[in-house]
Amino acid sequence: MPVWVQLVYLACSVCFILALKGLSGPRTARAGNLIGAAAAVVAVIVPFVYLDLDHVPLIVLAIIVGSAGGVVGARRVQMTQMPQMVALFNGVGGGAAALVALLELHEAQDVIDSVGWFTLAATAFTIAVGSVSFSGSIITFAKLQELMTSRPVVFPGLPVVFGAGLLAAVVLAVVEVQGGAMWTGVLLALLGLLVGVLLVLPVGGADVPIVISLLNAFTGLTVAAGGYVLSNTLLLVAGTLVGASGTFLTLLMARAMGRSVANIMFGALKGGSTLGAGEVSDRPVRSAGPEDVAILLGYAGKVIIVPGYGLAVAQAQHTLRELVDVLGDRGTVVDYAIHPVAGRMPGHMNVLLAEAQVPYEQLKEMDDINGEFKQTDVVLVVGANDVVNPAAKTTPGAPIYGMPILNADEAQQIVFMKRSMRPGFAGIENELLFDPKTTLLFGDAKDSLGKLLSAVKSL
Ligand code: NDP
Repeated sequence: MPVWVQLVYLACSVCFILALKGLSGPRTARAGNLIGAAAAVVAVIVPFVYLDLDHVPLIVLAIIVGSAGGVVGARRVQMTQMPQMVALFNGVGGGAAALVALLELHEAQDVIDSVGWFTLAATAFTIAVGSVSFSGSIITFAKLQELMTSRPVVFPGLPVVFGAGLLAAVVLAVVEVQGGAMWTGVLLALLGLLVGVLLVLPVGGADVPIVISLLNAFTGLTVAAGGYVLSNTLLLVAGTLVGASGTFLTLLMARAMGRSVANIMFGALKGGSTLGAGEVSDRPVRSAGPEDVAILLGYAGKVIIVPGYGLAVAQAQHTLRELVDVLGDRGTVVDYAIHPVAGRMPGHMNVLLAEAQVPYEQLKEMDDINGEFKQTDVVLVVGANDVVNPAAKTTPGAPIYGMPILNADEAQQIVFMKRSMRPGFAGIENELLFDPKTTLLFGDAKDSLGKLLSAVKSL
């Protein structure tokens, strides 16, 4: 590899690190994303310049097809479908790395005796873990896209089959390292596909996005190992970055839900679902119209908004911001309480509210705002449910037990905006809906917020 290529790759590696740094804050996220994308484009172009490639038309065709799919998919995807989009992209990345490793193994068959054991180990790792990541991601995509049930799927003997598959993969990897035969590589890939499916099937509902993050970490490690096999430092660096950030994200999300990663992955195998029953309660609640809620809000000194998944579904962020602006003009202090797992992906609410030009200063993290609920007149829960469900504190055995929640129950008045009495993602009843301090404003969030806005304006 010429020195100039190494220097370009070094610059790209630095750009990837800067991209990650940029993505860690809402103000710099857009620039970070662009820096990362630009470095990726450069990294794709460079081999065309310094290598004498075969099959250039086919490679270009593949790039065009992939780019078209990526652009169309990214433009069309709804914000609420982002986790499955990430799952799909991630799976394709893992699968591609596994295929490249298989091809490298095939190419090296004539000189396999001269290939070092460490390179063969890296190849076996790439094939096995890349295949796990591919099939696991496809199953998570199917679950989130509701192409199959999103509940945990377990069957008698699953742990035994899973364990046997894992053991067989390890044995095959050892055989691969010793002989470097093509058939072991192919078998390893097939076993990896099976293990990936069995790994993800028992994970249900609210836990699926965490598994995506874990598989993302797997893909990163796969790409890093692939970088070693191909002697490509840029792949090594990029893969390591993805592996490390995916691992941190998995741990942070698990912590935000008050669960261990082992419990998320294997909880359903111990019996009992990781999801609640999802029943709709017919217990009486207090409901009110937009005019009554407008009076509550209009005369409140301090209001906290708790946004959740339903706000994203209704695409009501702009109307919500308008309402907050009007309340602010009336002298009410209004803040947004952002729970780390509100919505369906990390940062979901930040992205949604940033899109509506909500000032970052109004967005308060859970730990910063939780002490303020006691002094709050009204909490407006817009399309959120699990993130304020006291069962997380009071009901051992509940799927969300142990998850830190927003202390909405400590406020003077709580208003829930939702369409029905259906539970949130965890599928369990929320006792706060039946609290004497709680009022429900039923309806689609965008619709209700529009009516609420008019009512507050006319106070
Ligand atoms: P929830 O899923 O608990 O609740 C969403 C609420 O929105 C429901 O009560 C639903 O009630 C309501 N809703 C849906 N559509 C609309 C609409 N159009 N208008 C008004 N309301 C609507 O969401 P939360 O944000 O509170 O909690 C997130 C959940 O997702 C947690 O369980 C979390 O663990 C999980 N999760 C989050 C991840 C993340 O990274 N953010 C990752 C993995 C899981 P109704 O149908 O009656 O309208």
